[in-house]
Amino acid sequence: MNDTPHTTHHAPLTTDVIIIGAGPVGLFAVFELGLLGLKAHLVDILDKPGGQCAELYPEKPIYDIPAWPVISGQGLTDRLLEQIKPFEPTFHFSQMVESLRKTDEGVWQITTDAGTVIQAPVVVIAAGGGSFVPKKPPIAGIDAYEGHSVHYAVRKMAQFEGKRLVIVGGGDSALDWTLNLQPLAKELVLIHRRDDFRAAPDSVEKMKKLVAEGKMKFLLGQVSGLHGENGQLEAITLKDDAKNETRIECDCLLPFFGLTMKLGPVANFGLNLHENLIPVDTEKFETSEPGVFAIGDINSYPGKLKLILSGFHEGALMAQKAFAYCRPGEKLRFQYTTSSTDLQTKLGVKEGKAA
Ligand SMILES: Cc1cc2nc3c(=O)[nH]c(=O)nc-3n(C[C@H](O)[C@H](O)[C@H](O)COP(=O)(O)OP(=O)(O)OC[C@H]3O[C@@H](n4cnc5c(N)ncnc54)[C@H](O)[C@@H]3O)c2cc1C
Repeated sequence: MNDTPHTTHHAPLTTDVIIIGAGPVGLFAVFELGLLGLKAHLVDILDKPGGQCAELYPEKPIYDIPAWPVISGQGLTDRLLEQIKPFEPTFHFSQMVESLRKTDEGVWQITTDAGTVIQAPVVVIAAGGGSFVPKKPPIAGIDAYEGHSVHYAVRKMAQFEGKRLVIVGGGDSALDWTLNLQPLAKELVLIHRRDDFRAAPDSVEKMKKLVAEGKMKFLLGQVSGLHGENGQLEAITLKDDAKNETRIECDCLLPFFGLTMKLGPVANFGLNLHENLIPVDTEKFETSEPGVFAIGDINSYPGKLKLILSGFHEGALMAQKAFAYCRPGEKLRFQYTTSSTDLQTKLGVKEGKAA
């Protein structure tokens, strides 16, 4: 396991099950665990739940979710959130799980890049196609500025108060952050390679209004160079289609070029991997480490289909074994939600009537 010591000074949070990844499969796992009385914390590097469904195709219709002849990626995410609400999961968004290790007391511990430490007897890896990470613009020397004055995400808006900002991109993130940060910034310049945006037309209109009012600038072109020292930007070079170069003084550069999926830190958890997937058995979906499970797109076993419905099934079976780790010695009784008062109490429904 990854034994890197963490630097946080907070006492670790504790729960029954830590779920790495809040995609559709991680979300439904909360439901299956909840029916067995198990509590869950979920961690995702995205700033919202839904994984690929919410990030890659929120408006696309899905046709193979049982009993939903058609539902959008975001619609499915919303329904899953509604279904797991009674179990009050704790979400930790915009955080990357960086390490997994076993403590001297024999419980699993994860640490995130934001310093959150959570301990539990069970860890469920529902990391899908990997963690969503920002696509970097191809600008020489950009690494030296990352985290100081080049940012691919906005975690705290106050960090940009009174600063001269350059935002790059033409999608929703670039436009949304332009509109949100403009009132705080000392100066704001939006750069995009063409006057044609993928972002919502309403956001584009609002941005153009700010430009017309002289509250910000919009320039066509690409960032071709960075100037500054010790990680602090002083200016960028903008190159337009005619290869003209302009120097723009700024304190921070925020490129929003979309996200891509990479296996990321899961590769360093010390688990057996096969072609970047985690092999599991098909009875419990447990990994090479007892108490660590892998469900959804991240796992592999003979006959695996990377479908949402497969991940839902895997979550149900995983929960049975997770119960044994979390409640050793307690017996698990098989019950139907239709007829069990115990399950209906957990769900917060009484003598439930179908819609
Ligand atoms: C365009 C498109 C169309 C699709 N259509 C269908 C369809 O019609 N039917 C169907 O069944 N499937 C479809 N799929 C596949 C489906 O989306 C996936 O099977 C499903 O999203 C897998 O769910 P998951 O929860 O396992 O993983 P994901 O949805 O990939 O979620 C995993 C989450 O884990 C997070 N994560 C990973 N590592 C870390 C870490 N170290 N720290 C923090 N967070 C981490 C990621 O950020 C991500 O949010 C489609 C996929 C695409 C791209």
